[in-house]
Amino acid sequence: MGVTLDLTRAAPEAEKGPVNLAGLTREQLKAQLAQSGACDPAKARMRAAQIWRWVHNFGITDFSAMSDIAKADRQSLEACFTLTRPEVVERQISKDGSRKWLIRFAPGIEAETVFIPGVGRAGALCVSSQVGCTLNCTFCHTGTQPLVRNLTAAEIVAQVQIARDDLGEWPSPQGERQLSNIVFMGMGEPLYNLDNVASAIDVISDNEGLAISRRRITVSTSGVVPEIPRTGELTQAMLAISLHATNDALRDELVPLNKRYPIEQLLEAIKAYPGLSNARRVTFEYVMLKGVNDSPAEAKALVRLLKGIPAKINLIPFNPWPGSAYACSDWSTIEKFAEVINRAGYASPIRTPRGRDILAACGQLKSESEKTRASVLRRQSADDAA
Ligand code: SAH
Ligand code: SF4
Repeated sequence: MGVTLDLTRAAPEAEKGPVNLAGLTREQLKAQLAQSGACDPAKARMRAAQIWRWVHNFGITDFSAMSDIAKADRQSLEACFTLTRPEVVERQISKDGSRKWLIRFAPGIEAETVFIPGVGRAGALCVSSQVGCTLNCTFCHTGTQPLVRNLTAAEIVAQVQIARDDLGEWPSPQGERQLSNIVFMGMGEPLYNLDNVASAIDVISDNEGLAISRRRITVSTSGVVPEIPRTGELTQAMLAISLHATNDALRDELVPLNKRYPIEQLLEAIKAYPGLSNARRVTFEYVMLKGVNDSPAEAKALVRLLKGIPAKINLIPFNPWPGSAYACSDWSTIEKFAEVINRAGYASPIRTPRGRDILAACGQLKSESEKTRASVLRRQSADDAA
């Protein structure tokens, strides 16, 4: 059983103009070239491989820079296609070095992406999968923004490309790199946009391109149980679960999706996640809410609940946002909670809050995009078409 998505905004494919090749999968790229007339169909495969390398390894956004393609051929490509990035409407840098970009994918369709140095092997990019969210976790800022629409695979890939542009990381570094990990922990519920998330991961993990290995890509879910097996099959990414409570009564309140898929069902699905082992653990996220879920008894309950699952625990100090009804647990309470977890053999469980000064921390993301704006847009496009 799935949630009914209110996709008020028309499908992005319908947006006009030349086809953008920059976020397509390899297969889509080949198909576009073969169909277009801009390229001899017999050469589509080779041309796709050349363009792929320029776009995903070198970060090129202009056909004229593709020096191994004849000038006349480049001009034909330019006439049919584009490689442009979505617009960055706002860029902020935190005191701690985190960076946040507000990206406009189309008029009224905006989402945020955050780079956090010092996470994972070098630094993690937190990408959005949807504009808004259909779910309403009570502690999450994004949850107050209704779903405007799913992001396309290309729009998810574009977030990585924009971060790479800004970090100056082209061509794709072989060894040392600042952007080493990707986490789907920005706006939206990735498992309600799984096909696009999976295609984006295919592009991002391609060895001849951005080359971020699937083991360094984490998909975080609030617990969409029926999509967990497919997530493993399609993405082979690491799994993170937003747990936040150890009993159904409290989880029903914090993560209302729990009423549909209670903790027991969720744990069953997790245990069956393909490839789980001590080297590939599932991450359990647990937001620390003062007086709500932060007692030592709950820490013990958490350890009991996760027994037998190869797990990491991430305690996330609650990040406040304007109008939020919760407070972050006191530091001493978080430390006591962490101690119980530590004693049970889980290392360094507290996630240091990053980018709070620019509202870039977990759960603080929100864009101004509104469904009403989308309806205005539809009217506008109807006017354009008339
Ligand atoms: N929808 C997905 C991924 C995006 S949320 C999910 O819920 O897992 C990414 C993480 O941030 C989740 O663990 C979420 O519970 C957490 N989060 C949300 N709001 C938060 C807040 N205000 N403070 C700290 N963490 C928060
Ligand atoms: Fe949506 Fe995740 Fe926020 Fe819940 S925590 S409202 S699922 S983005």
